[in-house]
Amino acid sequence: RGPESAEALRIIDCLRQSGFEAVLAGGCVRDALLGKQPKDYDVATNATPDAVRQVFGKRSTLAFGASFGVIGVLPPRGDRSPDETVQPTEVATFRSDGEYSDGRRPDSVHYGNAEQDALRRDFTINGLFYDPISDQVIDYVNGVKDLQAGLLRTIGNPHLRFGEDKLRLLRAVRFTTTLGFKIDPTTRQAIRLHARDLPLVSGERIGAEMRRVFTAPSFVDGLRHLIDCHLDEVVLPELVSVDLDSLKTTSDHLARRDFPIVMACFLIHADAPEHALQSITQRWKLSNEEVRRVTAAITHHETVIHADRLAWSTVQPCLTDRDADVIIEVATAITHQRGHDVNGLSIARKALTLPADELNPPPLLTGDVLRSLGIPAGPQYKAILQAVRDAQLDGTIRTRDEAIAMARIDKPGSTS
Ligand code: ATP
Ligand code: MG
Repeated sequence: RGPESAEALRIIDCLRQSGFEAVLAGGCVRDALLGKQPKDYDVATNATPDAVRQVFGKRSTLAFGASFGVIGVLPPRGDRSPDETVQPTEVATFRSDGEYSDGRRPDSVHYGNAEQDALRRDFTINGLFYDPISDQVIDYVNGVKDLQAGLLRTIGNPHLRFGEDKLRLLRAVRFTTTLGFKIDPTTRQAIRLHARDLPLVSGERIGAEMRRVFTAPSFVDGLRHLIDCHLDEVVLPELVSVDLDSLKTTSDHLARRDFPIVMACFLIHADAPEHALQSITQRWKLSNEEVRRVTAAITHHETVIHADRLAWSTVQPCLTDRDADVIIEVATAITHQRGHDVNGLSIARKALTLPADELNPPPLLTGDVLRSLGIPAGPQYKAILQAVRDAQLDGTIRTRDEAIAMARIDKPGSTS
């Protein structure tokens, strides 16, 4: 069964009707042959970018990668609902790449034929085409054989191919990890020899590949591949302090593999998690939200693990935190990794099933009330509110009058 996607097939059909060659290319062919759902469907054609824009019309195309021969084609207007964000299909002109002088991108591209286009691609399993009309896989690079053998191998001489574009070094680790493939020994040897040059790739691109490694079910294997390929020192020096067997146990207990969850587990197993997170954030350009979620997990997971032995006023804020889901997922995995009892976890989980106003009761005292008592806004003001809130959560005060009495006593310089 070949890969199918109605929109990509429509585009291929249109191009054929206009007299061009057009096929599915790259990752979608690989994934479909492996029985996986492709992330997206890319089309390759001998039509030039200008010709592609002519066939589909300027208003239905986006020239986002025109200098590399890539045009985005949008579905016909009638098929687009106004509120839906339509994803363009990438249509790339068959090409061969010119010289690479910056270690990342070709200085120029030349339009060519399908075989040349296959040969400029990175790995044999990524160099396949599929013709949906004749239901044929077109294989110029022995990719089908490697796909069946579960082998990652560069197209052509690995030294030349990694010399051209250093991002391929990390793509190799990413694909072996996500597909569970072995790296061909000659390809691996070449990666080791070129590993030092990876920093020619931008930190964002490295981060994007590493997110794929971290979120793969076999992510600890991915870290082992990184070490085996001698890429760990340039990509993730924090790895030296991590016991991978323990991390594997933690990872095996994760029910969810969002990047922040896995990153938090990794950092908890590393030295100086906060410091390491700062460095990784800068290198990979993590988003504010990612940093917030990872930080919440590394700061608060111990509180959840030990919830049975801590004051409720300490535990409750972790459970009502906007990132409580991450904190609890990480706490669960770490509890099991340590073989720690699950009493803390049970308390946390049970609390999460409480009605919202029981888990997080409205405060007995607010800033307005404090102001009416003549307590001025300022640092103490916050401290008083916090102390009263803690007492409320811990059950030592229950009424508004008790709260006001407590605020009066806490007021600096007051004699009640
Ligand atoms: P996925 O979409 O799951 O990340 P993919 O194989 O589709 O996997 P893309 O980055 O979308 O990866 O690239 C599409 C195709 O373009 C690849 O399959 C490969 O043939 C080619 N390609 C991508 N990046 C490179 C590169 N750095 N060097 C050579 N060929 C590349
Ligand atoms: Mg893709």
